[in-house]
Amino acid sequence: MLGAIIGDTIGSIYEFNNIHTKVFPLFSKTSTFTDDSIMSMAVAEWLLTDEHHTHSSLIEIMEEYYKDFPNPMGGYGARFGVWLATPTAEKMPYNSFGNGSAMRASACGWVAKSKDEAMRLAKISAEVTHNHSEGIKGAQAVAVGVYMMRHGALKCDVADCLQNELGYTFDEDLKGLQSTYSFDETCQGTIPAAFTAFGESADFEDAIRNAISIGGDSDTVACITGAFAEAFYKVIPADIIYEMRKRLPSDWWHIIWRIKAYENHRVAPDNIDFLKSEQIFVFGSNKEGQHYGGAAAYAYKCFHAEWGVGEGITGLCYALPTMEGLDEMEEAVGRFTEHALADPDHNYLVTAVGCGIAGYTPEEVAPMFMEAASLPNVYLPQCFWDELDKFSKVV
Ligand SMILES: [Mg+2]
Repeated sequence: MLGAIIGDTIGSIYEFNNIHTKVFPLFSKTSTFTDDSIMSMAVAEWLLTDEHHTHSSLIEIMEEYYKDFPNPMGGYGARFGVWLATPTAEKMPYNSFGNGSAMRASACGWVAKSKDEAMRLAKISAEVTHNHSEGIKGAQAVAVGVYMMRHGALKCDVADCLQNELGYTFDEDLKGLQSTYSFDETCQGTIPAAFTAFGESADFEDAIRNAISIGGDSDTVACITGAFAEAFYKVIPADIIYEMRKRLPSDWWHIIWRIKAYENHRVAPDNIDFLKSEQIFVFGSNKEGQHYGGAAAYAYKCFHAEWGVGEGITGLCYALPTMEGLDEMEEAVGRFTEHALADPDHNYLVTAVGCGIAGYTPEEVAPMFMEAASLPNVYLPQCFWDELDKFSKVV
């Protein structure tokens, strides 16, 4: 769902100012999350807090988010805005098949434990407002696509499902969409376009660029494309997360971390004195690679870390520069995450980087490992898991 929020934010300035190109700065000063993200967060919080997943609790939470964010950039959809402002007891679904149901559904695919459950949760998330069959299908397409790709499905598997189980058709390729697509607020008009933008992409960023390049309802197309792309490509580039971190309310991250579903805590041992052949020791050092103290000295002495290399693989280790400030460290952790994703044959045992000589706390550092924590080959120290857990209990 972070992918959805990123797509929405990047698309925010292009919704009413379409550009038909893939060449543009991803973020500008005015790029901001919009209604797509706000309602995605509402659905996420509902999934995490109401184990019975009732319509009434979802409505309540959507109302709370509306109260906190009454005037997002671009506003709310006209009928949805009226619905939000209607007193709770009088709120009725209004048979919509607008893409608002699809843009908010991605968290259903992250929380679901089966494809059927993804379908069921998405249906409930839609039908408080979008109880038209196409409105429900739009939400289900996003949730099921996310669920399937989190579990290793290929793009063509998801395309088959969308076509055969949900009845979508993919009539145009990306090039065709770039010349013919226009503003279309329906689920029927948005899902195939957003999936095509994702399907023809090479990586997460490319998917978002594709989505913007077709024009139309840019924030919502990119939101849905981003939801698919995050689930498929697994990792979002560090520089994009960094830009996003500056633009989201900090309490949103707590929910996003929890949605990432750290089902299995892979805990790195406190004292690592022996490495199996597939294990890599991840330690904090400085940019210059002067491994004088703490885990760095240990890495140099015992695991062949190379003197003078402050970042990346050396010997049986991976060095992370932690002495240059939190911002630089966060970007380095992002690069580490991309590295670990690309190297599934090794298990990365992360020590409490940044929390020794660098002097930071696990509370400051653990959030940087949000993406890494969802990778099966990354092991984090217990103190980092404790932080991620602590945040999750805030919800
Ligand atoms: Mg929007």
